[in-house]
Amino acid sequence: RAKDRGRNCYQFYTEGMQEREVARLELDKDLTHALAQDEFVLHFQPQLDLDNGEINGVEALIRWQHPRRGLLMPIDFIPLAEESGRITDIGRWVVLAACRQLARWKGTPLEHLRIAVNLSGRELDDPHLVDHIRDTLEINDVPARRLEIELTEEIFIQNIECNLSQLTRLRELGVHLAIDDFGVGYSSLGYLRDFPVDVLKIDRSFISNVTTRHDDAVITRAVINLAHNLGMQVVAEGVETEQQLNFLRSYRCNLVQGYLISKPVPAEALNQAMATGAEIAGITVDSGL
Ligand code: C2E
Ligand code: MG
Ligand code: MG
Ligand code: MG
Repeated sequence: RAKDRGRNCYQFYTEGMQEREVARLELDKDLTHALAQDEFVLHFQPQLDLDNGEINGVEALIRWQHPRRGLLMPIDFIPLAEESGRITDIGRWVVLAACRQLARWKGTPLEHLRIAVNLSGRELDDPHLVDHIRDTLEINDVPARRLEIELTEEIFIQNIECNLSQLTRLRELGVHLAIDDFGVGYSSLGYLRDFPVDVLKIDRSFISNVTTRHDDAVITRAVINLAHNLGMQVVAEGVETEQQLNFLRSYRCNLVQGYLISKPVPAEALNQAMATGAEIAGITVDSGL
């Protein structure tokens, strides 16, 4: 009986694996049409500047409006796109969509906003990436300083020669560079010296417990000081409570981003919120802060 059960378990396991593999292949096939069929959309999450209480930038986060599965989050398809290499075209679309949005905001109350986009290491391998970004900014008549690029730590650790040259060229264009999810990737800090970085984003995992755990509080304060002493701005990710906000303000964190301020929202919702008294997702983001 043990043997039967073993075999059943085995079969069940492989069937499950096959199902997952089929689903994965199907999604990968759908991904080939998604760009042509205009199924991607950017949602925008505001960043609150603690110095003046204003929203001065947003992070663009991709979503896929899948024709049958509904709205898919990046975790559902970005790793797949990285494996297949389709991420290169998706990344180009993200830059284009961000630049078009910046162009559309001209002459509106949002025209001062900066947009931060996320690029993965695989995208940086594209030797034409910098040219593409420069051309896209130019065609849409958008100043490079309106665009920020978020990169995770592995980009500063792996493939250093190529990445350093790509990022230096981007920085020379006037694009801002940010390190995303800082503190969870690698313990090496040497790259902070070698790469031309403007912004450091403290990972949400530190912010979640910043008011309840001594160690997370110490790390967060140290990272803020480290960044400031290197001439960088600091963004805290995943701020969900007033207490976290107050902590970050008292230690001079520059910008906060998180559900407390707003979840990521479609452009129309952001336009509306910014135009009608700075209330986003029910939270007053202006004044008093
Ligand atoms: P990330 O760049 O670190 O983005 C922050 C993620 O945390 C977003 O998830 C955001 O919705 C979520 N978040 C923001 N505030 C809060 C909060 O207060 N609480 C909690 N629990 N979560 C919060 P999302 O949109 O699912 O994106 C996940 C990741 O996917 C991003 O992490 C980024 O690495 C990647 N990604 C998103 N858009 C793109 C893109 O256009 N290209 C590439 N290559 N990667 C992208
Ligand atoms: Mg990011
Ligand atoms: Mg992040
Ligand atoms: Mg993160």
